[in-house]
Amino acid sequence: MHCPFCHATETKVIDSRLGGEGLQVRRRRECSQCKERFTTFESAELVMPRVIKTTGVREPFSEKKLEAGMQRALEKRPVSIEAIEAAISRIKSQLRATGEREIKSEYIGNLVMEELKLLDKVAYIRFASVYRCFEDLRQFGEEIARLEQ
Ligand SMILES: [Zn+2]
Repeated sequence: MHCPFCHATETKVIDSRLGGEGLQVRRRRECSQCKERFTTFESAELVMPRVIKTTGVREPFSEKKLEAGMQRALEKRPVSIEAIEAAISRIKSQLRATGEREIKSEYIGNLVMEELKLLDKVAYIRFASVYRCFEDLRQFGEEIARLEQ
């Protein structure tokens, strides 16, 4: 860490404490050369993995797309924005928790289905019918029957 005053390369940490609910480390540093003090903040970079589509194409994770897909399934359903946002944030933290740099879109689809199943059964069926491309009506009926148990 270069000193912002004299650009010397040697600075030492004189104090270190957690801030921002433990997500950030605040460090007091002192320049070994000019003795000026300054503060640095460090936080872990929470990177979302890239998405591998079924075609093999990679694309950046898009929260907008995720939300749009869920909204489509939840159209005119009695589910609050807060509940949807909470579901999205759970999905995102599960994706980060994998620690993977790339993740299959199927995996994300499954996480969405799990969340929708809890939020609203109709939305779940809507999403599953598009996403899983049910091979025939019988399979679709079986899925609905499972929900009614
Ligand atoms: Zn300095």
